[in-house]
Amino acid sequence: MNEQRESAPARTAELSGNLASLLARIDAACRVAGRAPESVRLLPVTKFFPASDVAALYRLGRRQFGESRAQEAADKVATLHAAAYPGIGWHMIGRLQRNKARSVARWAHAVHSVDSERLVAALDTGARAALDAGERTEPIRVLLQVSVDGDPARGGVAADDLAVLADRTARAPGLRLSGLMAIPPLQSHAEAAFARLAAIHTRLRAEYPGAAELSTGMSADLEAAITHGSTLVRVGTALMGARPITSE
Ligand SMILES: *Cc1c(COP(=O)(O)O)cnc(C)c1O
Repeated sequence: MNEQRESAPARTAELSGNLASLLARIDAACRVAGRAPESVRLLPVTKFFPASDVAALYRLGRRQFGESRAQEAADKVATLHAAAYPGIGWHMIGRLQRNKARSVARWAHAVHSVDSERLVAALDTGARAALDAGERTEPIRVLLQVSVDGDPARGGVAADDLAVLADRTARAPGLRLSGLMAIPPLQSHAEAAFARLAAIHTRLRAEYPGAAELSTGMSADLEAAITHGSTLVRVGTALMGARPITSE
């Protein structure tokens, strides 16, 4: 019995209850928006929480997990290796430094936070090396992070520069352009930002039909995100509880 991989029964029960509430919330939001429930997927965000929590969620039927810090993610990937957890997939959702791209390319099914040509080039190089080495079998799914309000603190490419970045990504053999990601501002401006994002996504998809994913919506704003076309909500707090550190 590996202690690191086993959650206490009380924690598993808590996660199970939170998961049921969250899935009901997503379902209700889909109904209100007139969308099919299966058109929106949940990506549990497990940053700051132990590998045992990921294992508990896996046993509750979840297969894909979002992480925002490269080293922490790599440690969990090593603990919960795919041989013991068939079908598990990891999404890098946090800001990524170029010098971490090679290591992230070994384990990431998808990267949501790609917002520069330099990062596209570094991830492509990393993915091709990982493919050659047999460390992965598929290109990395790339979601381009777009800035919907011009605030550099949250990252993201300016909408005007998206076309060039999309073109670079679509040409990269190690990458697969799969959609957009955005972190809208909190509270009052979120609705307008989600609407703007939806329009940007529609334009991108007209040129790149494979870019169908729209990763947006978190614990506090997933209903508004679903109203505006989100296909993947990234939820931490509402599922896992409060994070021990809240700077990210
Ligand atoms: C932490 C994080 C989330 C989850 O946020 P919650 O408000 O806890 O649901 C979603 N997306 C990104 C990029 C994050 O870093």
